[in-house]
Amino acid sequence: MEKIISDMRKAKEVLFNCNKISGEEILTQEDIDDAWERLNRFSAYVRAAFPETKKTKGIIDSSLQLVKDTKAELEKAENVKIPGDLYVKRDDSLAVCGSLKARGGIYTVFKYAEELAMKNGMLKTTDNYNVIDSFYYREFYSHYKISVGSTGNLGMSIGLSGKKLGFDVTVYMSEEAKKWKKDKLMRAGVNVVEFKGDYTSALKTARSEALKDDETFFIDDEDSKDLFLGYSTAYKTLIKQLKEKKIKVDSTHPLIVYLPCGVGGGPGGITFGLKKAFGDNVYCCFGEPTQMPCMALAMAKGRSDVSVYDIGLGKGTVADGLACSSPSRLAYNVMKGMLDGCFTIDDEHSLSLTRLLYKTSRIKAEPSSSVALGGVGKMFTDIENYGNATHIVWLTGGKLVPKKEWENIGLFE
Ligand SMILES: *Cc1c(COP(=O)(O)O)cnc(C)c1O
Repeated sequence: MEKIISDMRKAKEVLFNCNKISGEEILTQEDIDDAWERLNRFSAYVRAAFPETKKTKGIIDSSLQLVKDTKAELEKAENVKIPGDLYVKRDDSLAVCGSLKARGGIYTVFKYAEELAMKNGMLKTTDNYNVIDSFYYREFYSHYKISVGSTGNLGMSIGLSGKKLGFDVTVYMSEEAKKWKKDKLMRAGVNVVEFKGDYTSALKTARSEALKDDETFFIDDEDSKDLFLGYSTAYKTLIKQLKEKKIKVDSTHPLIVYLPCGVGGGPGGITFGLKKAFGDNVYCCFGEPTQMPCMALAMAKGRSDVSVYDIGLGKGTVADGLACSSPSRLAYNVMKGMLDGCFTIDDEHSLSLTRLLYKTSRIKAEPSSSVALGGVGKMFTDIENYGNATHIVWLTGGKLVPKKEWENIGLFE
């Protein structure tokens, strides 16, 4: 690991298999099932409030897409031969906020909304939740505040869903946050506080402001079980998609999943669910920008209280959604016994992967998302039966990114 850390220090791209240390059982299968039932209860509301979810019956989910041309081009660009099929999971196009944050963020808002309504005798689990899409409920929720710190996408998911329910929402945006995201939230009536400083410090401020006020529900990206559980339900529909596509996952046919990692809650939650479903037959690896490899650093050092600044990094990245200097404690503590591999990708490389994906499959994935594609070319050949593997790159954001932003990264050239 010394060599890995020394390469990371030089902002070189790295790849390593994690030394798994057995973790505590912080969350269980029952917790995932409970979250999944809650999302199903809310599906009637989601369908009413966000008609774009009609096709998926009010469950916010994405498709699994085979990308043959992307694989062929990737092999050329990276000069490797990748055995097995390459798929992308299209969380870049999730309803409401166009990123994987729709899974964790919206779930967390729903859980709070359900608790409040139940405490006030307005809702039972057997009710049809479409009643929530009404003036009566919006008026009720308008008396409650939600706050969150964000590099952009978490704020979008919580801001847009919270506002739709009627909540008073405040989002603390770190300096990486893109202007168009702030503008969109302000137009939706969300209070946006612009913060000079990185994500970790934006979170600190948001947390201490929220603590001053009993009436504010603070969603803590570094420590929220609800966020984590919202993400963890992703495998419930993925299992069906794999079956439909006749993709085998067993001890001789590994599934390798590449996920972009910021603080680790999103990819950690998804990994937690996948491991419950497929055990050792699924290999999960996290990709991060070379300047912000907080989870890779934590895994290499075997502890969560690390900061990329400690090794002279943190100079910013085009992958704004991954610009986190320290990992989530919760995500690290669950992942330390589960995560299979880590890799880092530099900014030029993730931009070229963004362009490659668009050129070959017409998919617009923001750089924070295409980082994951870089993992496929890294070849985790230590994996048993690597030759029979199916690869899934988990795309995490892009749908709402305006045309101008794409032009800036040379997508349409
Ligand atoms: C937030 C985000 C991630 C990573 O999620 P974390 O929970 O921060 O690890 C990946 N991709 C995109 C586009 C994101 O917005």
